[in-house]
Amino acid sequence: MTSWTSDITNLIGQETHFDGRVLRCFTDRPAHLNAMFADAVARAPDAEAVVSGGTRLTYKMLDRRIAGLAGGLQAAGVGRGDRVAILLSNRSEFLTTLLACLRLGAIAVPVNIREGTPELEYILDHCGAHLLVYGPELKDRLPARSALPALEHAVCVDTPEFDRLIDGPPLAAVDIEEETTAVILYTSGTTGRPKGAMLTHFNIIHSSIHFELCMGLGANERSLLSVPASHVTGLIATIFTMVRTAGCTVMMETFRADGFLALAAEENVTQTLMVPAMYNLFLLRCTVSDYDLRHWRIGGYGGAPMPQSTIAELTEKLPTLTLVNAYGATELTSPATIMPHGYGATRADSVGIAVPCGEIRIVDPTGADVPEGEHGELWIKGPMVVPGYWENPEKTASEFTDGYWKSGDVGSRDADGFIRLHDRRKDMVIRGGYNIYSAEIENTLTAHASVIECAVIGRPDPVLGEKIHVFVHTTDAAFDEDAAKAFVRAHLADYKVPDFVSLWDTPLPRNANGKVVKTELRKLV
Ligand code: AMP
Repeated sequence: MTSWTSDITNLIGQETHFDGRVLRCFTDRPAHLNAMFADAVARAPDAEAVVSGGTRLTYKMLDRRIAGLAGGLQAAGVGRGDRVAILLSNRSEFLTTLLACLRLGAIAVPVNIREGTPELEYILDHCGAHLLVYGPELKDRLPARSALPALEHAVCVDTPEFDRLIDGPPLAAVDIEEETTAVILYTSGTTGRPKGAMLTHFNIIHSSIHFELCMGLGANERSLLSVPASHVTGLIATIFTMVRTAGCTVMMETFRADGFLALAAEENVTQTLMVPAMYNLFLLRCTVSDYDLRHWRIGGYGGAPMPQSTIAELTEKLPTLTLVNAYGATELTSPATIMPHGYGATRADSVGIAVPCGEIRIVDPTGADVPEGEHGELWIKGPMVVPGYWENPEKTASEFTDGYWKSGDVGSRDADGFIRLHDRRKDMVIRGGYNIYSAEIENTLTAHASVIECAVIGRPDPVLGEKIHVFVHTTDAAFDEDAAKAFVRAHLADYKVPDFVSLWDTPLPRNANGKVVKTELRKLV
């Protein structure tokens, strides 16, 4: 059984939290996120905390801004437990507003800037946001104020009103109980209404320590944030992990492969966590060797499987970069498994092993553990699992049990503890009684040089129950339906060969967090 080193496991003890969950915890940890930030300010006052466009703030400068904004928010009537929605792109004010909320004990609700007006209305109303901080480009998308009875202020950054807020009377950080909610993140949900996962100070501190220790982060780290700051990956793997290590968050507003590599070189970036498609674009669109990326040590990825062909090519082109798969979710405050250093190449089809404080069960539909190596649903427990969903006791009751979050992901664990992910339960195609994991076909087909991305869905069939339909994004006019089928046939069992192939010269539909929305594709068949 592969496990984390004793330097890490020796830091863990058992504690009881939330509704009686007995958890493995890091015993020596900051009391709350305000203490974690204060530690960084004390350790590295003059080190850069955030770089965003032309703005560079050291920890000391950021601390002053946060104190002022916390005072301004308090003067505007925001108090402990009040929700402050943050609708901002990746810019320094995101960080300032987030940490100012925590400083006064309020709850930050970062919202993805790609949400449409109806989703924004739902989220702002559901969390009962008291105040909203938004970017100027989003003004036209804001819901009508009449639809948001709890909302007292909507403040646009880049205005004198925001400047006044940030110039508020400096506020000292409040002391706060670690099980208090710090952030509510609405899960994008490819089905149903978004649910607001309540990330507590305790959850976020544990996930930040997991990233720090499992990725081997030290002093002077610089992480390039190119996924949305409002998604759990950006928020935890970059922003809070950098606070934990007193490192710097370099913010990129809009991802472009060449712009990313140029910025990573210019800013001496050391660590990243992105979705696999972004790494793939480096290979498709850029000459990686044109950039001086010698400081970039850790290339984390997650959110979706990375095709093995991409892993192999990246390893060849960026030999000093350690690729680290991390599997997680919003409800898990980001990571549940991380690939230990040294195993990325030999275990390329796995998402790694359970994080040091995490416990993972793999269960059958009755909730019983399946034997080693067999497929089942991943149930995940640990100090990073959120206590539940905001104002949603039904979903909290149905999706959590005994401290475990029922992930809906299907996977298996081998004798060494490595977890393989096969699919999300609902994405499985059942064709003539065979269970076919969409991810397997998608992974295979993405390895074809002409395929930019693809997504598999089950198409209802009167005889077989479902047939396989694959949507392929390609710009190669010579790549046709037969080529797609032949490629899968060459690599997988015959019953996994798609019955239908749709070729698109445009990207597949994605939700605000960048996941392909299969419900949209299902409407097309
Ligand atoms: P979200 O809550 O938006 O972060 O989505 C979480 C889901 O993304 C998980 O339940 C998985 O289905 C998927 N996911 C996350 N990390 C990985 C990974 N490393 N490999 C494959 N799928 C992943």
